[in-house]
Amino acid sequence: MGRVLIIGCGGVASVAIRKCCQNSEVFEEIMIASRTKSKCDALKEKLDGTTDTEITTAQVDADNMEEVVALIKSYQPDLVMNIALPYQDLTIMDACLACGVNYMDTANYEPEDIEDPAWRAVYDRRCREEGFSAYFDYSWQWAYRKKFEEAGITALLGSGFDPGVTQAYCAYALKHEFDEIDTIDILDCNGGDHGYAFATNFNPEINLREVSAPGSYWEDGHWVEVPAMSIRRTYHFDQVGAKDMYLLHHEEIESLAKNIPGVKRIRFFMTFGQSYLDHMRCLEDVGMLSTAPIDYEGRQIVPIQFLKALLPDPASLGPRTTGKTNIGCIFTGKKDGRDKTYYLYNVCDHQECYREVGSQAISYTTGVPAMVGAMMLLNGNWNKPGVFTVEEFDPDPYMEALNKWGLPWQESYDPVLVD
Ligand code: NDP
Repeated sequence: MGRVLIIGCGGVASVAIRKCCQNSEVFEEIMIASRTKSKCDALKEKLDGTTDTEITTAQVDADNMEEVVALIKSYQPDLVMNIALPYQDLTIMDACLACGVNYMDTANYEPEDIEDPAWRAVYDRRCREEGFSAYFDYSWQWAYRKKFEEAGITALLGSGFDPGVTQAYCAYALKHEFDEIDTIDILDCNGGDHGYAFATNFNPEINLREVSAPGSYWEDGHWVEVPAMSIRRTYHFDQVGAKDMYLLHHEEIESLAKNIPGVKRIRFFMTFGQSYLDHMRCLEDVGMLSTAPIDYEGRQIVPIQFLKALLPDPASLGPRTTGKTNIGCIFTGKKDGRDKTYYLYNVCDHQECYREVGSQAISYTTGVPAMVGAMMLLNGNWNKPGVFTVEEFDPDPYMEALNKWGLPWQESYDPVLVD
């Protein structure tokens, strides 16, 4: 059915690529292109002979728009899947626009250099006007809406698990279970154990930036921001057990607040173990999470990038991670005039993921929806020009595909609510 250029070959991309190769009817040809071509070649070597998908590889620096344009022009894909880092979102969107090709990603834009004065001026204004101070937000990519509409191409933003599946859950709940949704609590629980005192389960730089930022939630039409990790709850997760979870700012809250009519409150909680929190606080206290370059023996280094080089590669955690993840959304609202509660969630087993695709469940739960989102664009199920998040499309074919491709969902009509 289609030819896809996949940019990035890290933890998440490796799963998405393997899932594309299981789905060769849709993904007839893929090109894996990344900064380090040897990683693309190594994955191609593992997959050749196991799939009908025709795989080619290339080197690309996706920070360089011209390089991406040249690659798109030579390969002529139907879609570009950006599974590199959020830093590359805008250059890859620009390249897609220049070539008239559909685009998708798994995380919204944030800049690598948060000291850049041009970016900083916009950021400072947004913090004042919107009321949350995370480095990422949708405004940069929403600014492309008109250009994508005029070019007749689609950009699908954030088709991972959260963002991604969580928004499909919201669209599904609104379509099938509620007349109005009052509150949404998104709960992301990783009950896995990799045996290290400290490691992140996706890109360390992006992960630590996200987790160390102030928390915030949406209530009664505005943002409420609180100090990082200052709101804690304990929740008993199906198939995982009781875990402490902390309120975080998360990107899908921003789009859901706009797209779920009348919603009164949206919160996001993620579980963390004490060891992770202690290490993170210590690293922050000594300046290792800083993104500002420092001079070290005549060389400029960025502390958080140096830390990334020391930490285990998330892609290497697969063989040693045991336990399960449980990620989902709890809704309250009304149906036929009566109060209703509803919980939609997925449980994923780290070792089962490893046996299937050689990765732990965090890469798996992100890589599968990346493939599913790409499939929606390629098969025409989701097809309208512009820039959209997942909840803006019909959730039914996406939800059906999640069941088929490894992330089956479960429902509860009597969930314990988070206070
Ligand atoms: P990794 O660090 O494992 O992989 C990133 C990949 O991008 C690497 O292959 C890297 O190449 C490549 N890359 C980085 N910079 C460039 C560049 N300038 N040009 C070309 N390639 C580049 O990250 P993850 O796989 O953990 O994360 C991938 C994305 O998924 C991130 O955006 C992350 O935020 C997102 N994510 C989304 C989630 C969700 O639920 N929505 C959950 C988890 C992650 P190299 O090998 O040279 O470093």
